[in-house]
Amino acid sequence: MWIEKIKLTNYRNYQELETKFSSKLNVFVGQNAQGKTNFLEAIYFLSLTRSHRTRSDKELIRFGQKELHVLGILNRVNGKVPLEITLSDKGRTTKINHLKQSKLSDYIGIMTVVLFAPEDLQLVKGSPSLRRKFIDIDLGQIKPVYLADLSNYNHVLKQRNSYLKKADKVDSDFLSVLDEQLADYGSRVIRHRFDFIHDLAKEADKHHFTISNQKEQLSISYLSSVKFDDKTDIEKNFLSQLQKNRQRDIFKKNTGLGPHRDDLEFFINGMNAGFGSQGQLRSLILSLKLAEIELIKSVTGDYPILLLDDVMSELDNHRQTKLLEGIKENVQTFITTTSLEHLQQLPEDLKLFTIHQGEVSED
Ligand code: ATP
Ligand code: MG
Repeated sequence: MWIEKIKLTNYRNYQELETKFSSKLNVFVGQNAQGKTNFLEAIYFLSLTRSHRTRSDKELIRFGQKELHVLGILNRVNGKVPLEITLSDKGRTTKINHLKQSKLSDYIGIMTVVLFAPEDLQLVKGSPSLRRKFIDIDLGQIKPVYLADLSNYNHVLKQRNSYLKKADKVDSDFLSVLDEQLADYGSRVIRHRFDFIHDLAKEADKHHFTISNQKEQLSISYLSSVKFDDKTDIEKNFLSQLQKNRQRDIFKKNTGLGPHRDDLEFFINGMNAGFGSQGQLRSLILSLKLAEIELIKSVTGDYPILLLDDVMSELDNHRQTKLLEGIKENVQTFITTTSLEHLQQLPEDLKLFTIHQGEVSED
């Protein structure tokens, strides 16, 4: 799929902007603080209805304004789809084909994106919440039911935690009802994630092997806080482990077990990748991103849009070449950079733009 045109109104430092893109490579050059990340963020926002760098929606609205609007014309295998998001202090509205969507899981997945930004290099060594977010964003785009299960899980989890915090004396029957719901939704979340990581790891290993010149094998494990031997038994195990941990949860007033506590582990040639070199970690993340692209294509039938925010300067010649080989002609790509000098071996048919103080011009 590719996005043909975008229109931003009061998005960050963009007052009013309308730009048309190439279905292949689009390169945006601009100095610091001109709006490069804001621009890619707007595309990401149109896809996922959220920013990748803030949880506060208010930040996205241009200073002094009350409402932002993003419109994009998406080209998919079966035709054009206009997508729209309006955001104000009253919340957000999303539209597909001019029709208002009430469920997030109906909207997300129409336009798929893969973002690669310098902060992704923290994925392996950073906090577990980064790795869970990584799963949620990617899996959510290819499996709408995952988003629904996750949202139900989070709802029950919140209810359970606030009950544990508020109740002077815990009613064990009531807690058991919540536990059953938690184990039901939670086991689905774990199963979706397990399958996803299994598929992703297989693809990522292929890329990592090539990028490392056939020297390194990459593997990824899903670390579940709920212990189980068989994937079909997760719910039962979750429930019995919740019961076993009940005194701990009552004492700590939170839920110590479940997908909200799970994590990922990466291994290069069997060694924990957390101890890997900078170069190995760069290859690993690049392999993951290429794997995400392949996986989205194989599940949805269409390639996602690739957003590369200032990462070319982080990648050497060899890795840049592997990246460009990996995406070939099929993936609409947006690259931002402070200087064209960071880019090597670019294809000829690219569209070049300059970003200056919230204005985008075509070169
Ligand atoms: P760098 O190369 O340093 O990453 P960049 O071009 O990616 O820079 P952005 O992060 O896209 O820069 O834009 C930063 C600019 O956007 C800042 O000058 C900031 O003040 C401005 N900005 C951020 N949020 C808003 C907002 N809500 N309204 C208006 N301007 C904003
Ligand atoms: Mg930036």
